[in-house]
Parts: sequence; structure tokens; C-alpha cells
Amino acid sequence: MPGSRSSGGACILHADLDSFYASVEQRDAPHLRGKPVLVGGGVVLAASYEAKAHGVRTPMNIRQARELCPNAIVVGPRMDAYSEASKRVFEVFEDTTPLVEGLSIDEAFLDVGGLGRIAGSPHTIATTLRTRVLAEVGLPITVGVARTKFLAKVASGVAKPDGLLVVDPHKELDFLRPLPVGKLWGVGTKTEEKLNSVGLQTVGEIADLPLDTLVGLVGVAAGRKLHSLAHNQDPRPVETRKRRSSIGSQRALGRRKKTWSELDAILRDIVDRVTHRMRQADRVGRTVVVRFRFDDFSRATRSHTLPMATADTERILHAADTLLSDMRPTIKQSGITMIGLSVTNLSDARAVQLALPFADGTALDTALDGVRDKFGSASIGRATNVGRDTGTSVPMLPD
Ligand SMILES: [Mg+2]
Repeated sequence: MPGSRSSGGACILHADLDSFYASVEQRDAPHLRGKPVLVGGGVVLAASYEAKAHGVRTPMNIRQARELCPNAIVVGPRMDAYSEASKRVFEVFEDTTPLVEGLSIDEAFLDVGGLGRIAGSPHTIATTLRTRVLAEVGLPITVGVARTKFLAKVASGVAKPDGLLVVDPHKELDFLRPLPVGKLWGVGTKTEEKLNSVGLQTVGEIADLPLDTLVGLVGVAAGRKLHSLAHNQDPRPVETRKRRSSIGSQRALGRRKKTWSELDAILRDIVDRVTHRMRQADRVGRTVVVRFRFDDFSRATRSHTLPMATADTERILHAADTLLSDMRPTIKQSGITMIGLSVTNLSDARAVQLALPFADGTALDTALDGVRDKFGSASIGRATNVGRDTGTSVPMLPD
């Protein structure tokens, strides 16, 4: 189907790096190329396609993986290298279209509708994207192109590794029906096994079952979802949001010298605003960046990366406070005229909250946001800000 001419309306790309961690290892260590590589410690976090060919899957016990693939080379994970690679790949995504919705460290949806006259058809754009990611970051990436996010995601799964597949909008059911049911987004191994055990293999066979029968087999929730997906109805709204690379705010401080407690209060206010906006956008972030401008117009930037992504006001404030404290000697010497804060390394809060439901104070912050949204931001001031002029803040452009 690549090269399909009648792809009008198919303008959602699902771009997904192949065996991401393992590919980064193979890129950085030539002797690993073409070899079965496992990344992990006790559990396989990623396996190269050479290892997958032996039946290795993730997550799988390393011991079990070695039994399947005795020649496998095991390497420990290097998360910093993966974050760096991810950042560079997302720069290519964002250079391709402003409409990028990151799903995880190694995959995103891109809406390329409306770019036709500038950049060519979605097929052309996807081809260029793959070429650029390989040339500029050194990694193979697979792209599925379709009318909906659901189909684009299924298409990239089918096209892997190092592939490109466009689903013609007029042939969506022809594409879906012959696929093994496990290719449907969100169908786990257990559901797949259950269906296979009663002789149901393909999406088409699932589509032809009455809903009641399906519900009897896998339960109400899973049954309804499967029924919709098999009929090419994606219950999730298709809304490609702009994926911001950072959320931030900054404050001009004027020439008058500020006391340390005034600076602390201003920083707290900025953090409040930024984290409020992050929670509104369902984003969490790991890297806290504080920017300073001094009386002599010189500038400084300091950043700290947290162990876990968060939108929690206190956690981000703590990191920002430490960065501010480190700058005290310079501020004392040169005076400060501007302070800015941004949180980068953003990801989708819903995914993180699923994994860590009670990990931080986000629930409290969300409750405060509710009051603020209802009664205006002046209704809630942190104790330190009572009676202070909090000044004006300008939104910081993503950099
Ligand atoms: Mg991937």
C-alpha cells in the first residue's frame, strides 16, 4: 500500500522507533550491529530484531531470553543516552509539523493534514521523516499513516521493523479484517490467548461475532472495546494536540534590589503558575530549568532533572529553590533583573498517573486548581504571597 495515490484524508502519522533502547546500543557500539542484543538487568527492557527473531519478547526474564537466544549479548540500560536520542527525534517530529502528540519516549502521532502544498503528500512526508531520523539521529523508525490515530498505530505495528505503511481510507476494513486480533491497539496477550483458544484468530472473525457473544468471552468492558475496534470505530477521540517541548513563565524584576524572601516568593508564584498550566494540559515533566538575567545583561541557566516526572508544585519548587540558592553569590554580586522557570522533558500525565497513582501531591494540587478555576487565581495565594504584588508574568515561548 505504500505509494497509494488515493490517500486523501489519511494524514495521521504514527511514528515509532524500532526496538528503541536496543537500536541506540547498536548505533553507539558497532560490534553490536546485526547481533541479537538484549537491554536490561533482570528483565528484558528491549530486544533487537535479531533477538526477537528467536522469540524474545519484552518484558521477559533475562534467563528465559537467554534460553531462547543463547548468543544474545546483554547490555545494561543507559537512560541518559535514550533521553538524548528521544529529544533529537522529537526535534525532527516538531520540525515536520507543529501538531505532534507524544505518546512515550519513542513514539508520537503527527498530524500532517494541511501541509500538502508545502511538504507533499503524507506518504512523501513520512518517507522524508524516516530518512531524516536515520540521517540525523542514526535510528530506524517505522511510520503508519491513516485517517485515524487507531489505524495509524495498527499500521505501524504491522509495518515494523523499519517500514512505512499507508492505509487507504477506502480500504480500511480490507486492511483490518485479515490481521491477527493481537494487532489491535490495546488487546493484550491474555485477551488474545483467550480468543485464540476458542478458534478466533483474526479481526474479521471478531467483527462478525455478535456483541453479546464477545462480552460472554472477555467481559463487558473488553468486549465492547474489541467490538468497536474490530468495526473500525475508535472510541477515543481523534484530537492531535500540540506537544509542547516545555511549559514556562518568566518575570521581569526591575532594577530595584530584591530581598531573598521577595525572590523566594516570586519563584513560588512562578512555579504555581507553571505547574497549574501543566496540570491543565495533562503534562508532567522531569527537568526543571531556571533562567536568570543580571543587571549587566549577562544571563545564566541552571537545570535539574528529577528522578520521576511530576506536575507537583512542591517537588518542582524544591528543585527550583535549590537552583536559585546555588546562584546566590552571583545574584549578590551582579543583581538580578529577570527570573524564568520552565519544565521540560514533558510527558503525558495520564500514562504516568496510571503507573503511580499516589506518588506525589498532584491530587492536592488538582483540588486547588479546581478552586482557582472556579473563583479565579487570586482566591488562592500561598501564605508567603499574601499582601504582595505578584507582578506581571509573560508566558515563556518554548525553546
Ligand atoms: Mg517503539
